[in-house]
Amino acid sequence: MTNRPQVLRTVTALRRAMAPYRKAGQSKSGFGIALVPTMGALHAGHLKLVAEAKKRARRVVVSIFVNPTQFAPTEDFGSYPRTFETDMKALTALKVDAVWAPTAAEMYPEGFATRVAPEGAALAGLEDKFRPHFFGGVATVVTKLFTQVSPDFAMFGQKDYQQLRVVTQMAKDLDLPLKVIGIPTVREKDGLALSSRNVYLSDAERAVAPTLHRVLKASAQRIKRGEPIEMVMEEGASDIRHAGFALDYLEARHALSLKPIASVKDGPIRLLVAAKIGKTRLIDNLGV
Ligand code: AMP
Repeated sequence: MTNRPQVLRTVTALRRAMAPYRKAGQSKSGFGIALVPTMGALHAGHLKLVAEAKKRARRVVVSIFVNPTQFAPTEDFGSYPRTFETDMKALTALKVDAVWAPTAAEMYPEGFATRVAPEGAALAGLEDKFRPHFFGGVATVVTKLFTQVSPDFAMFGQKDYQQLRVVTQMAKDLDLPLKVIGIPTVREKDGLALSSRNVYLSDAERAVAPTLHRVLKASAQRIKRGEPIEMVMEEGASDIRHAGFALDYLEARHALSLKPIASVKDGPIRLLVAAKIGKTRLIDNLGV
């Protein structure tokens, strides 16, 4: 119990708690504050972000906030897994300093009327095409988290690759004084990317879920060998559908701009996929 992170529920309490952290972070032995934004239901992927944060910064703050504005009314905001006490145990074991867990009313008080509207990678025609609410919601809440905590580093997973590109560009465009750090995806042994939504999968769905990573890996190898990208993507899409998925997209894009890409020489290339198995929507991606 002794090392349980302090739990902060209001912006006022957060600010008060951050002031000494900032001082400690400026000391010789420290290098500032790292923020790990999450929606809770923590798994080993989130904990990897925390471990990387601990390597870089003297103080680590994890935010846990299921952000209503990035869910469409038809999506799983209400049923999204919430496991606060279990999350706290994991964060205590990792010696996290503070957990920033505001209510929705604290984050979006009565009269809230401002949104951050990202463009560029946020309009690439990938997640944004299927979740038009998503990046506006993410950009607005992440901007608020950044100004609330004022971290020196912010850790994001490559698992949500388009989000990582959007947040990186946003921090640059808005001159936010912090470094966004992307962390490689943590996977199950069979290749399935860890996700809080994997708990929704039935045994049968769980058995076919690694198809996404398998297709990404095989496609990356084929593209590297010089096979035409379009053909590789078409065959990959067909494999995913045959496994029982409803495919939203499987695309080869420029790894930084996320613009469509026709040839390896215009790379670096990132392959990105999103597909539904039963009621669960999974996303994944891989560099070529
Ligand atoms: P979420 O709670 O799903 O919003 O995720 C919080 C952060 O954890 C995001 O930056 C995600 O990209 C990252 N994350 C989620 N799953 C993984 C994973 N399997 N490996 C690494 N990072 C992840």
